[in-house]
Amino acid sequence: MRIFDPHIHMTSRTTDDYQAMYTAGVRALVEPSFWLGQPRTSPASFYDYFDSLLGWEPFRAAQHGIAHHCTIALNPKEANDPRCAPVLDELPRYLVKDSVVAVGEIGYDSMTPAEDTALAAQLQLAADHGLPALVHTPHRDKLAGLHRTIDVIRESALPPERVLLDHLNETTVEHATDSGCWLGFSIYPDTKMDEERMVAVLKTYGTEKTLVNSAADWGKSDPLTTRKVADAMLAAGFTEDDVDQVLWRNPVAFYGLSGRLQLDTAPPQALHEGNSILRGGE
Ligand SMILES: [Zn+2]
Repeated sequence: MRIFDPHIHMTSRTTDDYQAMYTAGVRALVEPSFWLGQPRTSPASFYDYFDSLLGWEPFRAAQHGIAHHCTIALNPKEANDPRCAPVLDELPRYLVKDSVVAVGEIGYDSMTPAEDTALAAQLQLAADHGLPALVHTPHRDKLAGLHRTIDVIRESALPPERVLLDHLNETTVEHATDSGCWLGFSIYPDTKMDEERMVAVLKTYGTEKTLVNSAADWGKSDPLTTRKVADAMLAAGFTEDDVDQVLWRNPVAFYGLSGRLQLDTAPPQALHEGNSILRGGE
């Protein structure tokens, strides 16, 4: 079984997680740039973070046989801090990099005017750079948040076929399907969506344009929920081809819209800027 986790924050995860993911079948992932828990107070800390998503983290992933790509954006939460707003002007120099496969995560957190501005500006950047967009839907006020998100996408230059709406659930899936966007579901260990509920959604709505991710980060989360969904699908009577479509071909098709997916993973021999994680006996 081959698995592509289309949304996971490896910066917050350990080497043990990379090993366990490889053992479970994960061969590729996308790490969206996001909020780090500790609010950033200057644009420079974003640039160091973006650089680590482009350099250090792919280097670390490759040593565990996993292809690493990222999405770059000013996240919705920090879009509300005027000290971070200059990041928007610097994004173009990151969006041309080879391993950036989308603009994201963008979207709404509290649905403020500053978030409106950042969302519209970044959808335009995606259109300008020929990239798809990963759009997070808010965890609170889910349906209202989704409606407003879809309205902004419709007014943008980016067609819905180039947008992945993420963190969907039973409340939002129907409206999201009608929008023509790709559908993303984040599977959490004990809140929000779980694997059984995901299987029920797949039975009702089918496997087309649907992606499943762990969204694992520094919170309570599990980097193996993609595999758990695959196993639950097989147990519920889905075929191995259905599993391959949801857990591999759909994410490859969506991020492949960037023209930049590179799925082979020769382990790097050189050091990353003089820093090696091969240390400790190797
Ligand atoms: Zn995320």
